[in-house]
Amino acid sequence: MYPDSDYDVIVVGGGPAGSTAGALLAAAGRKVLITDREKFPRFRVGESLMPATYWTLERLGVLDKMKCSNFPNKHSVQFFAKSGKAAAPYYFSRVDPHESSQTWQVDRLDFDHMLLRNAADKGADVFEEVRVHDVLFDGDRATGIRAEFKDGVKRDIAAKVIVDATGQSALIARKFKLRRTDPHLKHCAFFTRYKGARRDEGIDEGATLIMHTEAEKSWFWYIPQPDDVVSVGVVGSLDYLVKGRSNDPAVVFEEELALCKPLQERVEGAEIVHEIRVLKDFTYAATRIAGDGWVLAGDAFGFIDPIYSSGVFLALKGGELAADSILEGFEIDDFSAAQLGKHGPEFVEGVDALRKLVYAFYDPDFSIARFLKRFPEQQENLVHLLIGNVYRHPVDGLLRAMDEYRELPKYEPIVIDTSTG
Ligand SMILES: Cc1cc2nc3c(=O)[nH]c(=O)nc-3n(C[C@H](O)[C@H](O)[C@H](O)COP(=O)(O)OP(=O)(O)OC[C@H]3O[C@@H](n4cnc5c(N)ncnc54)[C@H](O)[C@@H]3O)c2cc1C
Repeated sequence: MYPDSDYDVIVVGGGPAGSTAGALLAAAGRKVLITDREKFPRFRVGESLMPATYWTLERLGVLDKMKCSNFPNKHSVQFFAKSGKAAAPYYFSRVDPHESSQTWQVDRLDFDHMLLRNAADKGADVFEEVRVHDVLFDGDRATGIRAEFKDGVKRDIAAKVIVDATGQSALIARKFKLRRTDPHLKHCAFFTRYKGARRDEGIDEGATLIMHTEAEKSWFWYIPQPDDVVSVGVVGSLDYLVKGRSNDPAVVFEEELALCKPLQERVEGAEIVHEIRVLKDFTYAATRIAGDGWVLAGDAFGFIDPIYSSGVFLALKGGELAADSILEGFEIDDFSAAQLGKHGPEFVEGVDALRKLVYAFYDPDFSIARFLKRFPEQQENLVHLLIGNVYRHPVDGLLRAMDEYRELPKYEPIVIDTSTG
């Protein structure tokens, strides 16, 4: 079976960004096609949610599904110094006592699949194993897609708006060379899963742990998953983790593990249940968020480092805001870059706030403890940032204090040029 030849909106990519945009557009009565080249459930790294995902999940109508799921509850994030000493956990509900402060550590196979099914339930036509080779243009205006079905058949399908939610494939940003990597965050990650690793108890059982290695040249994430599994990964610069190191990812992973006592204690006797995978140079942003007839959402627009688990949050939020700009476009029959990218400035402001915290984490001279000693009134705002409250709570006071404390790297502000196609 093939989709129709004409849609209001085609969403390319059925990850969190695409499913969110697709579900909200279909629920509002638009004729929507979502295509993904993979068959779901499909693997993705990135299991820890920020609490602020709550609001988009609520709008999508999936909170009950999340509450009934077997995803571990996440109440906090806890950092471990290079000495192995644990800092006090940041409990989200202490600054934001609302049920949204408890979030989840999701198995992305199930989570992404649930979101895609939700989009289908809301009325979107969902086609898996359909690879989009190109976005079609009439002059500067996007007019459709060229898709290849799993039986090899190729078809052109038309739409008034194309949402590019292709994740790191970034179909449109690569086509137009809009993608810019961040020179300050040239990192890579080696990651796997353990079964039977030790967890803390009670409210801390589902916490995200961030553990520095001895020389502070890399750090590990420790993200509890369902069925006694835990996702573990190490992140460091490409120079440190790749140059002059073994070609065998398992060797590099073991060498880093040997530098991280608190992690060794947790995984001792546990079994590695996944091959060790590697991802490189994943931080980038496109220089524009929309053109005439097209808009980018999720990783297809940009991604910042995994340290604060902001990827899925920004994918959900980007999908939601893109859907709103598109729906307004349908109301006034305007599918220009300016209309489809109307949410861009607001969205990017939130991204940049999170980026600043990421820069602070990697700056060896930015000590959060000393910063909070000097600016104790910013403690709460810092937790708001860890929650992802960049669109609901003002964090500019915190950002100003961070600037005053120490000059952080400058990343040329993203130009949200939505004026032409
Ligand atoms: C090392 C690492 C650790 C991370 N950890 C976290 C974390 O703990 N928490 C967190 O929130 N985020 C994390 N992330 C980020 C998070 O995984 C992503 O931000 C998130 O998956 C983005 O969602 P998306 O919908 O934009 O893209 P994706 O989830 O990548 O979905 C894109 C979809 O597009 C499809 N697609 C691509 N090209 C085509 C094509 N040509 N035709 C059809 N379909 C196509 C793909 O098959 C895919 O299903 C991490 C990222 C990295 C690199």
